[in-house]
Amino acid sequence: MSTIPESVAKVRARIREAAQASGRDPQDVQLLAVSKTQPASALREAFACGQRDFGENYLQEALAKQAELGDLELTWHFIGPIQSNKTRALAEHFAWVHSVDRLKIAQRLSEQRPARLPPLNLCLQVNVSGEASKSGCAPAELAALAGAVAELPNLRLRGLMAIPEPTDDPAAQRAAFARLRELKEKLGLDLDTLSMGMSHDLEAAIAEGATWVRIGTALFGARDYGQPPR
Ligand SMILES: *Cc1c(COP(=O)(O)O)cnc(C)c1O
Repeated sequence: MSTIPESVAKVRARIREAAQASGRDPQDVQLLAVSKTQPASALREAFACGQRDFGENYLQEALAKQAELGDLELTWHFIGPIQSNKTRALAEHFAWVHSVDRLKIAQRLSEQRPARLPPLNLCLQVNVSGEASKSGCAPAELAALAGAVAELPNLRLRGLMAIPEPTDDPAAQRAAFARLRELKEKLGLDLDTLSMGMSHDLEAAIAEGATWVRIGTALFGARDYGQPPR
C-alpha cells in the first residue's frame, strides 16, 4: 500500500513520462483527482501535495466534502451522470462539468449559473464505444449538440470527454481515445480540452492528446463501495 503523497508522486511521474514519450509538454496534461467515495481527509492529504482539482460523481457526497473543505482553495469538477433535478446545484457549486450529453441539461446549467460566477466550463461526453456504454452522446449527434451548446450564455464549451469500454490492450485503448480526438478536430470549434484517461489507461490517453486525465484508484487506492460511511 502506498501513501497518498507517494501515489501523487507516482501518478505525476507517469503523466510526465507519457507526455515526454509522445513529444508533448507535460504542463499540457492536467491531473484531475477523482475523489468519489474517499473521505475529506484524503482530499486534504492530496491538497498538501499541491493537488487543487478534484472530480466527484455523486452530488450529495460532493456537497458534503465541499462544506468540510471550505477552508481550502479547490476547483471542483463534476464527472458523473446528471439528472435534470440536480443541475441547479451543479451550476452553483462546480467550476467544471465533464459529463453533459444532452442539450436540455446544458440549457438548464446555463440558465441556473449564478451571475456572480464565471462561465461554467463544460465538456460533452461522447459514447466512443458504441453499444458497450450507455452514457454519452452518439458520435453522429455530436456536431448538432456542440453547435447548440456553444451558443448558450454562462457556459464555456471547452471540449469532449469519454469513458471508453475498459480494455487491457493498449492499441484498443489508443483507438478509442483517437476517435475522441478526431471528433473534436472535426467539430471545427475553438476547443482546448480532451478529458480522457483513467488509472489503467492514462498513457494511451496522453499519447492521443488528453489535456485532463481523471485519476482515482492510482491516487487513493481501491474504492470500497461495500462499507457504509462511518
Ligand atoms: C471513477 C471515475 C474515474 C477514475 O477511475 P480510476 O480507474 O479509479 O482512475 C474517472 N472518470 C470517471 C468518469 C469516473 O467515474
